[in-house]
Amino acid sequence: MAKRDYYEILGVSKSASQEEIKKAYRKIAIKFHPDKNPDDPTAEDKFKEAAEAYEVLSDQQKRQRYDQFGHQGMNGGFGGGGGMNMEDIFSQFGDIFGGGGGSPFESFFGGARSGGGRRTRKGSNLRIKLKLNLEEIANGVEKKIKVKRYVACSTCGGNGAKNGTDMQTCGTCQGSGQVRKVVNTMLGQMVSTATCPTCNGEGRIVTNNCEACHGSGRELQEEVIAINVPGGVMDGMQLSMSGKGNVPERGGVPGDLLIQIEEEPHPTLKREGNNVIYEQYISFVDAALGAEVEVPTISGKVKINIKPGTQSGEIFRLRGKGIQDINGYGKGDQLIHVNVWTPKSLSSDEKAVLEGLRYSSNFTPNPGKNEKGFFEKVKDYFQ
Ligand SMILES: [Zn+2]
Ligand SMILES: [Zn+2]
Repeated sequence: MAKRDYYEILGVSKSASQEEIKKAYRKIAIKFHPDKNPDDPTAEDKFKEAAEAYEVLSDQQKRQRYDQFGHQGMNGGFGGGGGMNMEDIFSQFGDIFGGGGGSPFESFFGGARSGGGRRTRKGSNLRIKLKLNLEEIANGVEKKIKVKRYVACSTCGGNGAKNGTDMQTCGTCQGSGQVRKVVNTMLGQMVSTATCPTCNGEGRIVTNNCEACHGSGRELQEEVIAINVPGGVMDGMQLSMSGKGNVPERGGVPGDLLIQIEEEPHPTLKREGNNVIYEQYISFVDAALGAEVEVPTISGKVKINIKPGTQSGEIFRLRGKGIQDINGYGKGDQLIHVNVWTPKSLSSDEKAVLEGLRYSSNFTPNPGKNEKGFFEKVKDYFQ
């Protein structure tokens, strides 16, 4: 039997909008619904035919393929000429008739779906803030912290009951934790599932509470947790340790421990991504004559040589003395920014010495090509 044109089946034009297609299908689905036409054996075929047409025309890609190649283009798209089965059709209905979950009409087709059963409940997450200094951040660190978290009650093992016999399967949901709601619609009965209000989805009811936890199935426990902080973390970053949060009441899997990183400002070093900046002040005597100075780094003090003739604004680089990259791409550098200090007050003797040098030719500024401005230097180092 030759297949009918999908547009013809739905009674829409080739340029119909998605909204028009949806509307048309809705009308046909209602009209030919098998339950409404128990005496018409062709109704189900028409119903399926419309569902197949809708399946294709409601999907941008499939519709394009169909427009271009006709039914031949649809082979392999789904089931060839076999069309759709009822399950497929019903799965469309969430889209068409609104309302999520559960398939409508299942009561009519004897299709009580094998549901997912009781869901595993997850406990709440625990949030903590973790202060780290730059030294700890630079290379990564193991931090042991005390947390108070809910764990399974040690008396009842977490179920909240005094004895094993003090628990009953919930009569409302028969232990599934979910209840079916049957709603009458113009298409027949729609069945959806919801969390059982009697047992809150737990499937069981405790008839006699454990005295230690009063039925909650959990107790607060102080625990020392070792957190492995990788090098290179940044302020505000969140680490998570799965399963180190609270267990839910009466059994389930624990939530996570969420650790928010707080970076303590360093007294002398400034972080710039994976690099560390240090502002080094030297006297203009040291700048002119050269000197050895000691600078702090995140891994202890380091001596650097200031060569004679060093200009204010010069930047020294200590390779690999910065911060570990969080993704493992090596280490940053320490950049030492040299500032030549100009005295703010002078004694009369000092003044006399300097006056003697005022017109000395070597003291007259004479910047050459190698004296780059500050911004050019910064650019060089950060590129
Ligand atoms: Zn207990
Ligand atoms: Zn229940």
